[in-house]
Amino acid sequence: MSIKLTIDGQKIQAKPGQTVLEAALQAGIYIPNLCFHPDLPPLATCRLCVVKIEGMRGLPVSCATEVRDDMVVDTRDEELLTLRQRLMWLILSELPKDMPEKTQLKKVVEYVGVDEILKNFAYKGRELPILQDEPLFERDMNLCILCGRCVAMCQNVREVGVLNYSDRGYMSLVSTAFGDTYTDTQCKFCGACVEVCPTGAMKEKKLINPDDKGEVLVPCRATCPAGIDIPRYVQLAAAGRYQDSLEVIRETVPFPHALGLICDHPCEEVCRREELGSSVAIRDIKRFVAERDNGSWKTKLDITADTAKKVAVIGGGPAGMSAAWFLRLKGHQVKVFEAQPNCGGMMFSGIPRYRLPLDVLNGEIKEIENIGVEIEMNSKVEDLDPLFAEGYNAVFLGLGAPIGSTMKIPGDEDARVTDGIYILKGVSHGHDMKLGGKIAVVGGGNVAMDVARTALRQGANEVDIIYRRTRNEMPADPEEIEESYNEGIKFNYLVNPVKITPADDHIVVTCIRMELGEPDDSGRRRPVPVEGSEFDFNVNMLVVAIGQDYIIPDKFGVDLDRWGSLPIDNETRMTSRDAVFAGGDVATGPQSVIKAIEAGRLGAMAIDRYLGGDGNIYQSFANKDIDDPAIGYSEAFTGKERAHRGTIPVEERFKPAWPQVDLVFDDVTLTCEAERCLKCQLRLQINEAPMPPEAE
Ligand code: SF4
Ligand code: SF4
Repeated sequence: MSIKLTIDGQKIQAKPGQTVLEAALQAGIYIPNLCFHPDLPPLATCRLCVVKIEGMRGLPVSCATEVRDDMVVDTRDEELLTLRQRLMWLILSELPKDMPEKTQLKKVVEYVGVDEILKNFAYKGRELPILQDEPLFERDMNLCILCGRCVAMCQNVREVGVLNYSDRGYMSLVSTAFGDTYTDTQCKFCGACVEVCPTGAMKEKKLINPDDKGEVLVPCRATCPAGIDIPRYVQLAAAGRYQDSLEVIRETVPFPHALGLICDHPCEEVCRREELGSSVAIRDIKRFVAERDNGSWKTKLDITADTAKKVAVIGGGPAGMSAAWFLRLKGHQVKVFEAQPNCGGMMFSGIPRYRLPLDVLNGEIKEIENIGVEIEMNSKVEDLDPLFAEGYNAVFLGLGAPIGSTMKIPGDEDARVTDGIYILKGVSHGHDMKLGGKIAVVGGGNVAMDVARTALRQGANEVDIIYRRTRNEMPADPEEIEESYNEGIKFNYLVNPVKITPADDHIVVTCIRMELGEPDDSGRRRPVPVEGSEFDFNVNMLVVAIGQDYIIPDKFGVDLDRWGSLPIDNETRMTSRDAVFAGGDVATGPQSVIKAIEAGRLGAMAIDRYLGGDGNIYQSFANKDIDDPAIGYSEAFTGKERAHRGTIPVEERFKPAWPQVDLVFDDVTLTCEAERCLKCQLRLQINEAPMPPEAE
């Protein structure tokens, strides 16, 4: 049943219960308004939306008047236009002269008729202090028109209730209780007040370009290279819905457990909770739910019917295995060729077992096999032609960067100088890499930390890290640096090896001291040698962990760039050779596991499109009903400290099985930590207020 009425001579239909303003806006008839918001009950504070209705006395506000059958409404009568200008004058008379641009207020002022208003404009202003010393938001109550939207949002929609009105009449203000800071009132920093404020009185500190709104307001999700829906999985975990939470992660990545242990978590660097003290422990929450996996997601997997297309994936690392997973889900026959005896790439051979146990890695690889991906281990592919001759329609190269770079300094050909990847690979294959005595490791990344900690576990008496910058510039995860310190590794900053001299039972590493100069291309300050500061360092072995290189067989017939890596087209993800795609370290240079997974996903999308599919690899497993806008008040919310997962005692770490160092949250800690999330995604679900039509 619909209601028929006439507005400005136009016959329209409305739903029962709608207001005249809602019906008009729905029909494309704009009535000026400022306190109306589609997500809020009528506030009727600004009165700008006054109209005339036949048979009704006075000038009712359309935002609080329900539609009735046969109603005849006039919104543009001369008397109404004049009244709106006067109302606007009253609103503006207490505001400062310079109103922020691009606000709803500014646009409505212009629509109602700015010239008429300005003729008699007093611009009193209230000279209230601008509050800028709080996290995320600032408040300039000089710009407040007391429309009430923010208070209604905070009280009625979010049910947090920290905003209210203080004082009366001319002194009336929107404020927190007793004028406390947001932090002291236990504001949840959801940003709904900022989102609905029409004047800029409540403002985000960061500038927001409308095109980047999602990135600024939900930075964790925007920063995750794989685009995992972090707010959703964190909040499902907080609600105790661990399987739903895991399903959300599995919608995007096939290695949730491995990532929960070793992801370099760029999402945590940008988490908005950091502004309140510390970020949410997003990675540890992922690990917790991955360890509770009961396999529910498997029943929801959607595998497309067989397409009769075959794809060969060369390299079973994170990029290759992710590409294989998504291509199989799209119905293609996929075979992975892995040169090593175990899939996983750097997750197998570059990350020590005390960080990523083999059963975790192999368990996730097994799930990829379980959906029908064929894996051939110990299978080194040197030529792609035979694969195409066998009927493969496309090839994905996920070759990684499997060899360590050398320093190229005099004497580094000594057998006691080696590279970090060689050491880690040997150890992961169960070889004794003879890491006794005194070992020095050159480098500041995760590989250097992994080698140093591995050396201690393989019997080294003393391990030194040599790094040419300072701790601040070290690219390794802060947790890995911290644990390296805890395990007794010594750090030598602003030092660089320049020469190796062999001695009988050791090598002499001549180093030079460095100082930091101007920033280089990476933004880190460039290390500069200090003349005449050379000194000697005696060690039994020097392990170089300063970078990685590629092995790309000539017979692949693909063009390489000047660094020896494999350039691909950004859009098609294809190499210079038709039907040959690539992704991960081999195409970008050594990067993180999560970036390699994303490269595999993008490769799978591109290959699927190339093979005639739609390229849509998104799987929707989980129920999405976690977005309740009523987030409620919580005691002591803002001051809640980040939970730490804890580690096993240092003395237990060197037992033969190399036990996993990091512990997992217990249920109570998990809930507490996940509840710290600010639910930033809810802000993007707030509807936009209606804006006046653009001037001709
Ligand atoms: S701060 Fe903004 S939303 Fe709140 S009452 Fe003032 S103008 Fe309205
Ligand atoms: S508070 Fe929650 S939603 Fe906001 S950035 Fe951090 S994890 Fe993401």
